[in-house]
Amino acid sequence: MEQYGIDLWADNNFIIAQGCVKVNYKSSPTLLEITNKIRKNDIRGPLLLRFPHLIDKQIRSIYTHFQRAIEENEYEGSFQAVFPLKVNQYPNFVQHLVKETIPYNYGLEAGSKAELLLAMALNKIDAPLTVNGFKDQNMIDLAFIAAGMGHDITITIEGLSELEQIIDAANRSEQKTLPNIGIRMRLHSLGSGIWAKSGGIASKFGLTSTELIEAMELLKAANLIENFTMIHFHIGSQIENINPLKKALREVGNLYAELIKMGSVRLRNINIGGGLAVEYSQHEQKLDKNYSLEEFSNDVVFLLKSIAVNKQVPQPNIFTESGRFIAAHHALLVAPVLELFSHDYQEKSIRLKEENPPLVTELNELFLTINEHNAKEFLHDALDHLESLLTLFDLGYIDLLDRSNAEVITHLIIKKALYLLSDNKTPELNRLQVRLQERYLLNASFFQSMPDFWGLNQHFPIMPIHKLNTNAVRAATLWDISCDSDGEIPYNDNQPLKLHDVNLDEEEYFIAFFLLGAYQEVLGMKHNLFSRPTEITINITDEGYEISNMITSQSIESIIDDLGYDSDEILQSLKNKISLSKTLSSKEKDVMILQLINHLKENGYLQTVQ
Ligand SMILES: *Cc1c(COP(=O)(O)O)cnc(C)c1O
Repeated sequence: MEQYGIDLWADNNFIIAQGCVKVNYKSSPTLLEITNKIRKNDIRGPLLLRFPHLIDKQIRSIYTHFQRAIEENEYEGSFQAVFPLKVNQYPNFVQHLVKETIPYNYGLEAGSKAELLLAMALNKIDAPLTVNGFKDQNMIDLAFIAAGMGHDITITIEGLSELEQIIDAANRSEQKTLPNIGIRMRLHSLGSGIWAKSGGIASKFGLTSTELIEAMELLKAANLIENFTMIHFHIGSQIENINPLKKALREVGNLYAELIKMGSVRLRNINIGGGLAVEYSQHEQKLDKNYSLEEFSNDVVFLLKSIAVNKQVPQPNIFTESGRFIAAHHALLVAPVLELFSHDYQEKSIRLKEENPPLVTELNELFLTINEHNAKEFLHDALDHLESLLTLFDLGYIDLLDRSNAEVITHLIIKKALYLLSDNKTPELNRLQVRLQERYLLNASFFQSMPDFWGLNQHFPIMPIHKLNTNAVRAATLWDISCDSDGEIPYNDNQPLKLHDVNLDEEEYFIAFFLLGAYQEVLGMKHNLFSRPTEITINITDEGYEISNMITSQSIESIIDDLGYDSDEILQSLKNKISLSKTLSSKEKDVMILQLINHLKENGYLQTVQ
């Protein structure tokens, strides 16, 4: 049976049992029972399911691994972490994260004024708070206010002009506690992967070695050297290969030691940014990363220790800003399949005449007598006959009904042959799979729910949540309901996705997309005005599970308002057009107006029952 690479990407969070995907925790409910329960409330579109226990698991995992590496290496610095809000700012994620991580003193990282204000409101007062990104005077003022409130805040400067602004603000301020200052390093070591642009000499962020020397002079002259406590780097998201990180750590470890030697008396923290990768791959031959968290934490601790010991400086406290690693696992999307598009290629669509062209009769013979032994030969004959029949059609010798019969019968022969030869995967058979591919139309928008697929070709694990004890035989292309040909996940021979042959008149079929908890939600686009899917938090208990924090998908009316229209005016204009109609009775008019009001209150996803 098809396993969809669940052993590679699911990290044991989800398992297959009795043909269904189960949440592998406490009472282990299936995703199907959760989906069905939510859909009982008349919810038809895609569902974004959040599992808070998977947020906790990732946080526990990063702290435990670093703690273990610290003990094994007899490391003298500490480990601390902040969550970068840009990865997921949604309340049902962040509020849980802040509430459940008190024992760890886990903090937040902000990269804009809006994120900083959120962080100042939500972060525990003694947990670290870091600020990155480009800053104006207002953002610096906010950081001063945060320090005044008592937050342990560090502003990381991206360039010298920001440092000058901070020095000005400090000169003007009469506050007793000022924010700490961090400096982002511009490393010569490069990152790797599609998100690699954050590292390297040409990167958008950080100070060069010459600028660092200047920064030290400015800090000393302003009497702020004691506020300089952290250096920071971030070589890019989803680091696939551990080697560039090791190079960066060596460079940063030495920069740290040099800066201390130059008089940075309170510099003790190295912030290694984010980038810890998540395994998205469903295929063993194409893994996304070449290291484990164990190796990652060992390398960081070991390298920073050896440089500090060598250069005789204090061993630094290690900060991380991992976002993807913490957030990706907790959220998934369940999308109902609305339609299978090649269903017309069925036996019942064969419409043989009394008298058929000889090649069609032969095709039909092949179809009726194909078996395990002759499958390959019959398959070749059928493909050959189809070629000839299509040529005959172009020349006007056979009619549309003959052509349709030829196409349907050949399709059925290929399907049968592939089934009979399924243990025998030759390149030729794989190519034929593509010809047979089925198009599954999903009640979802890929632009909204997995924008990195559209923008970066990022692959997310995809699998049905049930029927897993029956053979998935159809090579699948997935279509979303947006009117855009990019709203398609095409069948890919290198990473084949096989789905089930289902009859939607008789049963429902649900496809899930996993690892969507990092970046996808806030990057999601309202293309075609499809809004965020209905979101639900699911707490798994020993006895079952609890559904909470349901936020139904945004209504059409409210999306219209977001665009800058006034939905009342839009409704008024619709009403006016109805009232001016010369063909409708006044009763019909009243009914239609009521219908329109209801439609505006609905969300845009298809309300079809499947
Ligand atoms: C985006 C970002 C992160 C988070 O990176 P992940 O790959 O999600 O762990 C951390 N630090 C900085 C400065 C960032 O810009």
